[in-house]
Amino acid sequence: MNVVKVIEYLLKIGEPKFRLNQILESYYLAKFKSFDEMTNISKDLRQKLSDNFNFLSVEEDGIVESKNSIKARLKLIDNLQIETVFLKYKEWNTVCVSTQVGCAMGCTFCATGQMGLKRNLTCEEIIDQIIYWKQKGVEVDRIVFMGMGEPFLNWLNVKKAIEEIHDNLKIGWRKMTVSTVGVINGIRDFTSWEKEVNLAISLHSLNQGIREKIMPSAKVHKLNELVKSCHRYTNQTKRLLFFEYALMDGVNDTDTDAQKLADLVNSNKLFFANIIKLNSVKNSKINPSKRTVQFCRILDSNRVKYSRRMSMGGEIKGACGQLIS
Ligand code: SF4
Repeated sequence: MNVVKVIEYLLKIGEPKFRLNQILESYYLAKFKSFDEMTNISKDLRQKLSDNFNFLSVEEDGIVESKNSIKARLKLIDNLQIETVFLKYKEWNTVCVSTQVGCAMGCTFCATGQMGLKRNLTCEEIIDQIIYWKQKGVEVDRIVFMGMGEPFLNWLNVKKAIEEIHDNLKIGWRKMTVSTVGVINGIRDFTSWEKEVNLAISLHSLNQGIREKIMPSAKVHKLNELVKSCHRYTNQTKRLLFFEYALMDGVNDTDTDAQKLADLVNSNKLFFANIIKLNSVKNSKINPSKRTVQFCRILDSNRVKYSRRMSMGGEIKGACGQLIS
């Protein structure tokens, strides 16, 4: 729901403040799926709201389920489509949210990157992905901005959405994570924003040439500048910074690659690595590594702080890098 426009409208037609709160609360708590269902307000007002606004800016257009994850394809008002994923962990539920329709960054291991960019999502469309899951009656505990798109290329809307999610959906700053391919000016803005939202960097290699091959945006956002911006982030925020490293067969999984990652993570006590199993993507020549054990052995011998992340959603093509519409 476009909350700003709905508030403006309600004030214009002279509705009292408590009515505004009643409507907004129903929306944020996802008590109803349409204005028509809001029997706590008059029929006349329900009709006026339905005539002028969409209750949700996204509409379900397909769903695939597995044991611990559900992927939904959502249709937007202009008929473009995005995907969002619900992930059920043992202790909490996470929603993976898209920030753009498609993505301009063109990472070669990513299905979204093969689509190109169609457009940015509005703040409303970002939040409505979460309301959509809440309407299904599930608790949403954590949000990761790791769906389709590069969040820092739509930062104003993503930032506004995060603030609204915190203030109105009551999800704590620390329960949200923004993931970037390494957009340096975005990391700078995020650092000065000074909110306790987590930051994850899709690193995937510590070799400038290899990064450029698998992540074309690395030609602009150079590795040495990226690493400097990561140190600046931890110095200023005193918060952990997560490096995502998906192991790719013959690309970034040698012992030398592992040693480089170990040296980087050990260079700053607030750096942490997540070692991820690459998810297979149609039309990509890059395959998951078979050297995870050897790679992690080197990290262990260097006493690196890392976790081997369970990649959920792979069987429904809803895992990192697999979203496409
Ligand atoms: S990995 Fe992320 S940044 Fe790269 S193309 Fe896919 S969605 Fe875009």
